Amino acid sequence: MSNMQKKTDVILIGAGVMSATLGSLLKELAPEWEIKVFEKLAVAGEESSNEWNNAGTGHAALCELNYTSEKPDGSVDISKAVKINEQFQLSRQFWSYLVNKNLIRNPQDFIMPIPHMSFVEGEKNVTFLRNRFKALSDNPLFQGMEFSDDPKKLKEWIPLIMEGRTSNEPIAATKIDSGTDVNFGALTRMLFDHLKTKNVEINYNHSIEDIKRAEDGSWDLKVHNIETGYIDDYNAKFVFIGAGGGSLPLLQKTGIPESKQIGGFPVSGLFMVCKNPEVIARHHAKVYGKAKVGAPPMSVPHLDTRYINNEKALLFGPFAGFSPKFLKTGSNLDLIGSVKPNNVLTMLAAGVKEMALTKYLIQQVLLSNEKRMEELREFIPNAKSEDWEIVVAGQRVQVIKDTKAGKGTLQFGTEVVSASDGSIAALLGASPGASTAVHVMLEVLEKCFPQHMFEWNSKIREMLPSFGESLVDNPKLFQEIHTSTAETLGLSKKELVYN
Ligand SMILES: Cc1cc2nc3c(=O)[nH]c(=O)nc-3n(C[C@H](O)[C@H](O)[C@H](O)COP(=O)(O)OP(=O)(O)OC[C@H]3O[C@@H](n4cnc5c(N)ncnc54)[C@H](O)[C@@H]3O)c2cc1C
Repeated sequence: MSNMQKKTDVILIGAGVMSATLGSLLKELAPEWEIKVFEKLAVAGEESSNEWNNAGTGHAALCELNYTSEKPDGSVDISKAVKINEQFQLSRQFWSYLVNKNLIRNPQDFIMPIPHMSFVEGEKNVTFLRNRFKALSDNPLFQGMEFSDDPKKLKEWIPLIMEGRTSNEPIAATKIDSGTDVNFGALTRMLFDHLKTKNVEINYNHSIEDIKRAEDGSWDLKVHNIETGYIDDYNAKFVFIGAGGGSLPLLQKTGIPESKQIGGFPVSGLFMVCKNPEVIARHHAKVYGKAKVGAPPMSVPHLDTRYINNEKALLFGPFAGFSPKFLKTGSNLDLIGSVKPNNVLTMLAAGVKEMALTKYLIQQVLLSNEKRMEELREFIPNAKSEDWEIVVAGQRVQVIKDTKAGKGTLQFGTEVVSASDGSIAALLGASPGASTAVHVMLEVLEKCFPQHMFEWNSKIREMLPSFGESLVDNPKLFQEIHTSTAETLGLSKKELVYN
């Protein structure tokens, strides 16, 4: 055991896409700051950020029906969709900045163009989709979206989904060609490779065991070196807890008032992966359906063309389920261990309120493979069981907190929780997730380094020309950014050309 405490400016806990993004932003804004990363696994991007653990959708609200809601008069509220689209444009700008500066290379290894589609069945859903299309197609951020309820057109767009469809129910879809598939695992690994060249010390097989406030307001960390078994002492002026599902237990250890009355509800996931190259070749889109009644938004079924290790793949899911683990590599005691005197009432209230959800998730875990095939056949009527296998996806820990809506309310978004002096921040929740990493990490910077934001402003604007701007109110800027990022990221061939 080494007794010498090592001091540094910044510690990033976890080597997922969030720490990778924050580290990369900080290295551009404050290159002289010393940054150390601690990751308990042997490599970067192995938990939720791994390509097999998430759906790889570049969430820009082009196809996800849960980002637009129906108002009582039947019109569609698109405000959330606009926000998410603008946030995704920030990610595209940052990735383009890194490519243009040669800090990362070969963008096709992490981002590919793919049409994003929504697909619905039944009169009511078709009406909703048509109204959603009307509301979005007038908006500059969603230009190029098409709608069709004509089976012939749909056959052209999605032959695999249309083949063998016998039901007389009305069907409809929207399609927009400017969607993306993002390999967040590859991106995370690229960003850590880049950080290594900037003298960031990345310590794999190192698990953070404890975090305590030091007398001068900085943070003392106990770090378990998994290879040697030693516990080392570190101190940092700023700590980012980017431990994915592992963030909540670490946040609780800090004891900051902002960490109280918060709980976590883990949701596990499964994907079905197609093994038949002929079937894979016949589909070319991310097709999102509508969540079943009672299902949480993260279990919206979708059939996705993916690019993994530069090969085309086809995945369906995710099937949500319940597991008490906070990380895929976590422990069955994670959930119970996160119940503390300060959040027990919050957790109990959520337990009572979310009985239906828990029941739904447990039912999902118990689904047989044939039942899962039946759900897949709602998308691909002719799907054969022998062409598909199951892979276990990542864990999401949804935040539970007391809100105006009541005690113990389950949240489906992402939350940055930070100390009032900005010396520590944690990221909780997982949606919209990795796609909006740049926006979320800017929020961390704004909350934790308000004193530097003025000095950093021009560099941030250089990296992210739309920083602080509303793109929906500035269609010309949107067009410039969308076109230039498409070119840099190799998306332009199939992207729309705006007039
Ligand atoms: C099924 C599923 C589908 C998804 N689909 C999408 C999608 O289509 N598009 C999208 O944008 N997002 C999606 N997401 C969300 C996205 O994957 C996450 O938001 C994102 O990967 C979170 O990144 P992170 O860096 O916070 O966490 P992670 O990638 O989980 O990284 C956290 C890291 O911290 C490490 N760690 C944990 N505890 C400790 C400790 N004590 N000490 C040291 N290290 C520790 C872990 O080992 C891990 O490597 C999906 C998520 C899931 C689960």
